[in-house]
Amino acid sequence: MVDTHATVTCPDCDLEETFEKLAAARSRIESHRVETGHEPTWELGRLDSGVERAGDEAGVCGRPACTDPDSPLLRDDL
Ligand SMILES: [Zn+2]
Repeated sequence: MVDTHATVTCPDCDLEETFEKLAAARSRIESHRVETGHEPTWELGRLDSGVERAGDEAGVCGRPACTDPDSPLLRDDL
């Protein structure tokens, strides 16, 4: 089972919508930003926003080593 949904939330209002396609979530963020001037964010699956790339790596691997603070992946992301 692949968990690819994205939840769009906005810190400036009560916006919270879940999309099955990332493109849809992305366009929702863009339209909300244009309409309201807010800065909505999204979460991919159980991941926090802004860590999509690292999340992809960890998702593929899934080993405990990937979540180690000393891992090259995390260090590279700083
Ligand atoms: Zn908003």
